[in-house]
Amino acid sequence: MPARAAYPTAEPFLPPPEDEAGRRDLDTLRAAAAGCRGCPLYESGTGTVFGVGPAEARLMMVGEQPGDQEDLAGLPFVGPAGQLLDRALAEAGIDRSRVYVTNAVKHFKWEPRGKRRLHRKPGIREVRACAPWLRQELAAVRPRVVVPMGATAAQALLGPQFRVTEQRGEVMPFGDGGAEVMATLHPSALLRERDPARREERYATFVADLRRVAPLVG
Ligand code: SF4
Repeated sequence: MPARAAYPTAEPFLPPPEDEAGRRDLDTLRAAAAGCRGCPLYESGTGTVFGVGPAEARLMMVGEQPGDQEDLAGLPFVGPAGQLLDRALAEAGIDRSRVYVTNAVKHFKWEPRGKRRLHRKPGIREVRACAPWLRQELAAVRPRVVVPMGATAAQALLGPQFRVTEQRGEVMPFGDGGAEVMATLHPSALLRERDPARREERYATFVADLRRVAPLVG
């Protein structure tokens, strides 16, 4: 029987640890991630889209992967989903400039559709390959609360058995440093909702979830 191919991983692209706890600072990580070839997606987008936000942020929000506009800008959540996120954070009383925002997968996975680049959901191997970057961001920022948005981010952080449809909005312990996690909807899922009434309903749920964590990060 042929040997099973090893899973791809970003691990060999991590820079050397900078302290005894094995942490690296965000600028070092961002620079190293720019050269990551930890999975085949390095060929897919314009470049690595690393997280942004203050190193001392109390809230870290995690999406699935960069979209078309994020890929071109090299920044997460700057397109329509990012604008919706900004609005929801403001309504929940959370200052976006104090939030660290990132994605579970840091390259844009897409397929051509005419002249457009259509989002393709990353696979479990790509999520696992990219997980070292997310773990390092968590170690560097040490947020008080982590909010995965959508199933990909929630499962990257909480395991494949986690169901956003059933468990979103629950504030739970996260890690062993006293942090908490609460999964919610992904703003892109709200934008894809065609029924206006249903879209408003889901948006209200999204804001209500964010209000739940606002007192923890204020
Ligand atoms: S998606 Fe993640 S693991 Fe894959 S090449 Fe990009 S940064 Fe590296």
